[in-house]
Amino acid sequence: MPEIAQNIKQIEDQLQQKARLIAVTKTKPIEALEETYQAGFRCFGENKVQEMTAKYEVLPKDIEWHMIGHLQSNKVKYMAPYVSMIHSVDNFKLLKEINKEAAKNKRVIDCLLQIFIAEEETKFGLSDEEAKEILESEALVSLTNIRIVGLMGMASNSDDEEKVRLEFRHLKTLFDSFKTYEKANVEMRELSMGMSGDFLLAVEEGSTLVRVGSAIFGAR
Ligand SMILES: *Cc1c(COP(=O)(O)O)cnc(C)c1O
Repeated sequence: MPEIAQNIKQIEDQLQQKARLIAVTKTKPIEALEETYQAGFRCFGENKVQEMTAKYEVLPKDIEWHMIGHLQSNKVKYMAPYVSMIHSVDNFKLLKEINKEAAKNKRVIDCLLQIFIAEEETKFGLSDEEAKEILESEALVSLTNIRIVGLMGMASNSDDEEKVRLEFRHLKTLFDSFKTYEKANVEMRELSMGMSGDFLLAVEEGSTLVRVGSAIFGAR
């Protein structure tokens, strides 16, 4: 069995259907994505809109594309026709832009609010309070072409397992508390947390979507 297929199978066995796997294909050549597709896998994650769109254009159309990287509003239009889920929404203006472009394409786009849970200052995301403000805002109700379906977070890049676990646990607690905000376009059903180094911990703490790159494709 080719290596990519084998790696995916091994990770899926470990996940035991508790969380879905997103294969993070950023920086990988089209051949690697084709091989992944040939292995029967259909769920890819990218962190740059241009790169994702270039790959989308040449690959079969039954692939689910997940945007997991920091986003600028002016790039939303390129992926609005096809993106399956945007994990990295970190401000209300961006949500409005996604709504506008989704409407042009007669779609409803699933979004996650990205929450800042790590200690490092380099990671993007909303504070708990800022996320709460978005969910409470009157203006959210009118955005009928987006659906907030959960939260995303990245834990600290640390060997301290307990610390990483507590960051994931914090996000899960927030996720549960946000169920009180459910309405027509808000449904807390996906918790996107866990990468190559920490996805098993994340699943133990309640992740439903893990984003795994290097454990499948090797180091970038
Ligand atoms: C690159 C990336 C991943 C995957 O990282 P690996 O450590 O290679 O598994 C997951 N999430 C985000 C947001 C990323 O940018």
